[in-house]
Order: sequence, then C-alpha cells, then structure tokens
Amino acid sequence: MGKLDGRVAVVTGGARGIGRAIALALAEEGARVAINYHSSAAAAQELVDAIRAMRQEQAHQAGGADADAEVAIALQADVSNAEQARGLIAQVIERWGRIDILVNNAGITRDRTLRKLTDEDWLAVINNNLNSVYYTTTAAMPTMIEQKYGRIINISSYVGQAGNFGQANYGASKGGIIAFTKTAAIELARYGITVNALAPGFTLTDMLAKVPENVQEQIKARIPMGRFGKPEEIAKAVLFLAADGDYITGQQINVNGGVYM
Ligand code: NAD
Repeated sequence: MGKLDGRVAVVTGGARGIGRAIALALAEEGARVAINYHSSAAAAQELVDAIRAMRQEQAHQAGGADADAEVAIALQADVSNAEQARGLIAQVIERWGRIDILVNNAGITRDRTLRKLTDEDWLAVINNNLNSVYYTTTAAMPTMIEQKYGRIINISSYVGQAGNFGQANYGASKGGIIAFTKTAAIELARYGITVNALAPGFTLTDMLAKVPENVQEQIKARIPMGRFGKPEEIAKAVLFLAADGDYITGQQINVNGGVYM
C-alpha cells in the first residue's frame, strides 16, 4: 500500500530535472502520474516506461497481480499557452476521472541584467513560469472542488524570495507564484484543497548547468551546506506536502541548503 494509492497527479515540465524526480516520487507511493512535457517526448516516454517497470516490480514483490499499465502517461502541452494548459488538465480528468495532485513545476530562465533585458525575455519568463500556474490551477479547481480534495504544489524558487543578479524576470515570476499561492490557499481551503509553494535553492539540473562553472563555484561558497541540492531532495518535500501535508496550506517551504533563511 502506497500513501498515494488511487490518487491522480499531474506534473508540468515533468520529463527531466526536478519534475522527473517529483513524478517518480509520487508514482513510487502509488499515484497515477501524468507527465507533461513541452518538447522532450523521448525523455517523457522513457520516464513513463521507468514508472511502469517500477510499479510492475512493486506488484511482483508484493505477490499481487500485474500493475495497471495506466500508471503513467506522457502528455505534450506548452503550459505557457492558456488553451494548451487547460487542455492538458482536461485530458487528465477525461482519462482518469479526477485530479488530486497538481505540481506546477515547468519553468525557464532568460537571465540578463535589467539594462539588457528585452520585453520578449520578460514576457517569456512570466508566461512560462507564472501565467502557466494560473491556467492549470484554475482548470483543475472545479474538479478538485467537486471532489472536496486537492493538493496544489507550485515550484517557486529562493530567487522569488531573495532576488538575484540578472534574474529580475525570473524573480518576479517566482515571487508572483508565492503571492498567488497564498491567495489561492485562502480561497480554496474551504473545499479541502491545499495550495503551497516550494522554494528550491540551487539544484543540480540542466537549468543550473547553464550557469558558467566559475559562477557555480561562487554560488556554492554562499550555501551554508556547501553543496547544491539534488532533484530527489526537492521531490521528497513535494511528496511530503502531497501525502502528509493535510493541515499545511499557503506556505512556502524552503529546500535550499540554508542559502536563504
Ligand atoms: P529543467 O530546465 O531541467 O526543467 C524544466 C522543465 O520544464 C523542462 O522539462 C522544460 O521543458 C519544462 N518546461 C518549461 N517551460 C514549459 C512549458 N511552457 N510547457 C511545458 N513544459 C515546460 O529545470 P529544473 O531545474 O528541473 O526546474 C524545475 C523547476 O524548478 C522550475 O520551475 C525551476 O524554475 C525551479 N527551480 C529550479 C532550481 C534549480 O537550481 N535547478 C532552483 C529553484 C527553482
């Protein structure tokens, strides 16, 4: 018996990095997981296959019947596009009849100082990181309200709390997620829906790999724990909120090695 047996989860931008680790953690506890991807179809399918294999193994070890093949699916959608984001949520509900856990994880960076930032850089990051959260949340809400159950977990960033050089657009999008989370939490609490934000610090994914190595070393020197986070360490906190966070709402949980306190 997993803690999330019977639950249906969606992870946006779930094919790689932090989203991938979150999808795996939720699936390991028994949730059915819809893995949204933008362009990484092969990576998303590889993850679906890995989840199916893991659940098959779990079923055999428990001496039960074969695991349901529908434990995971990959769904293409650009969640910065209102129609596609809403369509993604609609597809999941149509296919599995409910939606219990929504993890808004998709995100991009377009780092430039304000002196060099273009309107296009600004809008791309706000659309991908913040507007997407509004689209998917409002699309999932009616079904969650009907169920009287929902767990919405928005992946923010420590940059949304502290700011960071060259990241005005990213910081605004991630700070916006925290403010959005609090209002949604206030409005939805009466329906049994919790809404929380998770603020990772610097985490070892493709996003961090884009940062030049000398800058990475400078960043590391500022982290009290002296190392970058692992995607699995972010996923553990998401799993906690999804499975055990019954009385936690409107919070920002920092998983950042102490870089911001
Ligand atoms: P990543 O670049 O490895 O993964 C991001 C994923 O989001 C990719 O799969 C990408 O295709 C997807 N995505 C982006 N825009 C999308 C869209 N419009 N529609 C669908 N999918 C889209 O980066 P990551 O580090 O795994 O980032 C995951 C989340 O964690 C992001 O929201 C990021 O801002 C946040 N975060 C990361 C760090 C870090 O240091 N890595 C720190 C704090 C917060």
